[in-house]
Amino acid sequence: MEQSLAVVFDEVVHRNPGEAEFHQAVEEVLMSLGPVVVKHPEYADAEIIRRLCEPERQIIFRVPWTDDQGRVQLNRGFRVEFNSALGPFKGGLRFHPSVYLGIVKFLGFEQIFKNALSGLPIGGAKGGSDFNPRGRSAGEVMRFCQSYMTELYRHLGEYTDVPAGDIGVGQREIGYMFGQYKRITNRYESGTLTGKGLSWGGSQVRTEATGYGTVFFVDEMLRASGEGLGGTRVVVSGSGNVALYAIEKIHQLGGTVVACSDSDGYVVDEAGIDLALLKEIKNGRRGRVSDYAAARGQGVRYIDGGSIWDVPCDIALPCATQNELEEDGAAALIRNGCRIVAEGANMPTSPAAVRALREAGVAFAPGKAVNAGGVATSALEMQQNASRDFWDFDYTEKRLEEIMRAVHDRCLQTADEYGTPGDYVAGANIAGFTRVADAMLALGVI
Ligand code: GLU
Repeated sequence: MEQSLAVVFDEVVHRNPGEAEFHQAVEEVLMSLGPVVVKHPEYADAEIIRRLCEPERQIIFRVPWTDDQGRVQLNRGFRVEFNSALGPFKGGLRFHPSVYLGIVKFLGFEQIFKNALSGLPIGGAKGGSDFNPRGRSAGEVMRFCQSYMTELYRHLGEYTDVPAGDIGVGQREIGYMFGQYKRITNRYESGTLTGKGLSWGGSQVRTEATGYGTVFFVDEMLRASGEGLGGTRVVVSGSGNVALYAIEKIHQLGGTVVACSDSDGYVVDEAGIDLALLKEIKNGRRGRVSDYAAARGQGVRYIDGGSIWDVPCDIALPCATQNELEEDGAAALIRNGCRIVAEGANMPTSPAAVRALREAGVAFAPGKAVNAGGVATSALEMQQNASRDFWDFDYTEKRLEEIMRAVHDRCLQTADEYGTPGDYVAGANIAGFTRVADAMLALGVI
């Protein structure tokens, strides 16, 4: 890492002790910025990078709620408003027991560059709670969401901060939070949350957007070398919202997804994942991929534990969670001839795994570019809310596709410009960074 950047990185580690994921995300971006600080001394003069690594505001709060037995439960809520140089704070909420400040900061930091890369006017933020929705009734989830929003609402607004979903937060949770926001404020401010239902201010394609966008990006990577998704064999980790709709779009474009997973294990279905069945199990019954294997029967293997990266494929899409693809997974993918790894999740590939993949000549594209379609479609939802309009599915999907192809081209053009042709990591980091940095310069020392 370049000397002045190493100094900033040491300061980040020192100021944010114990936040390993945040350190990892910062280091990953700073590693790409060497040629940028050489070319643009004005960024260093204005301490842009040091300012960028410090969130504008961090909110931590108590979330008490009552379970179905009448017992009082307690969780911790977070919202890290990281950077608003390009627009209102924007980013999802994650409800998962692993959530602590370091996770929220890593996600918020990534979100700044992702949102910048989308080309849309949105700043970066992230929030969530260590609440575990697994095994909780709808009533418990509702009471938790209401309590969470009772504190957070005062920090939100269409021009201030606009949350959406992430792991553990889907349309149901957004509904409970939007309902509580509306009740407290007595205002139907649709533009305060995205990921809403279609009949109450949501956008077509928002549910599908992250998965679809991931596949549009991969399709563009293939096109760059004159290929397409037709006939490819794909492994998608996860079975949540991102994974489901990545699988759907791959199948629409002629590829075959042969494996997917959850935190318990993975399933291999050589005939191609039966998406209607998987959706019914995951969304309808809130079941597991082991239930999919049982329902599908003969010819389908369920492996409890184990690594999905052992399944041979042309293309691997980690769509579950951070650091799910480590060195041994990368080694298995390389051994089995995988050619492309594109991140549908946020930072799912560990730094050592990224290094190994790239050294072996596997094309690697980072989440902040690949999965930008989710938040981009949230920005389209905000546009529709602001103009009290509702676009149809085809038009919205077309917009998403254009945005993803533009994100892809922005990465490659920037990589060319900075002397690292074909490097999606450098391209994404530099293109995202320079857009935010220029806005910060223009706005003065704030
Ligand atoms: N949680 C998603 C992400 O990681 C979407 C955020 C949003 O729509 O605001 O980008």
